[in-house]
Amino acid sequence: MKAAVINDYGGPEAIEIVELPDPRPGPGEVSVRVRAAALNRLDVWTLSGSLKLPIEFPHILGADAAGEIEAVGEGVRGLKAGARVLINPGISCRECERCRSGEHSECPSFRILGEHLPGTLCELVVVPALNVFPFPEELSWTEGAALGITFITAYRMLFNKGRMRPGEWVLITGIGGGLALSLLQLARPVAGRVFVTSSSQAKISKAKELGADEGIDYTSDDVGKTVRHMTGRRGVDLVLDSSGGEALDSGLRSLVQGGRLVIAGATAGPKSEINLQRLFWNQLTLQGSTMGSDPDVANMLRAVTGGGIRPIIDRSFPLAEVADAFTYLESPERFGKVAVEIS
Ligand SMILES: [Zn+2]
Repeated sequence: MKAAVINDYGGPEAIEIVELPDPRPGPGEVSVRVRAAALNRLDVWTLSGSLKLPIEFPHILGADAAGEIEAVGEGVRGLKAGARVLINPGISCRECERCRSGEHSECPSFRILGEHLPGTLCELVVVPALNVFPFPEELSWTEGAALGITFITAYRMLFNKGRMRPGEWVLITGIGGGLALSLLQLARPVAGRVFVTSSSQAKISKAKELGADEGIDYTSDDVGKTVRHMTGRRGVDLVLDSSGGEALDSGLRSLVQGGRLVIAGATAGPKSEINLQRLFWNQLTLQGSTMGSDPDVANMLRAVTGGGIRPIIDRSFPLAEVADAFTYLESPERFGKVAVEIS
């Protein structure tokens, strides 16, 4: 099979398309013929080696993918060759206390395809049978592949860890990236008002076309003060962030008393300063979230199908041009997912 691999860390130029032996599913596993994959920032960090993970070269990149089951391993029931599936890229042990309580992404040995394990930017990928879900028939392969990391993460942030209720007011920071757009698309049908922040007026305008009510340019306006002004001093119920840095404190300043802030990334760096007096006096909740459990994936798919949601694909590249796809992923104008058509 063809696969996009790296033999050392580097930039997009380090990616090679090579022929590798077809992988075969072991007991409890399935092999999936990948039709489309989608890129995440995580793939760039794996490529550059900044995650300092112990990976074996050649390493296949890519976490998100959708395709058709090619073969099923021993003991796999209810799945047949040819079935169209979405891959959940989060692999858990399924035996520990967290897994047995249904919180698979809290598993101490939780791993992600393409990060700790061989990835999906290839023609055939082997995953545990429990990691494939029925593909939403109304979506294209690239749209479906884009439901991986970002939509699973967004669903858990909003409805599991964030406990979002109908009619609540939410603030989504850094609109334009895959996760923030997934949050917007999943929150919109349920939320009362949706506020977004960005450094780009163009991205704020596009977010409003997708249903955001208000946009705040954080390069010119103080987010906390502006949210208070826009909400008659009340603040929002829920803030969703994946950058940290200054967005964390301004997010907390945007919350109503008793509000919640859910964070699922730290792109601005691992440390951030917050005002603890505000946290306890206003009885705020600061909550972490990573990827999602099996129920989160199933519920996310239900929300996507029920809400007629189609993931926003900015651009799609053939596998042969996957290095260009990685370069494009870092372009500041990008709005939505970058997909890779595999077969
Ligand atoms: Zn576990």
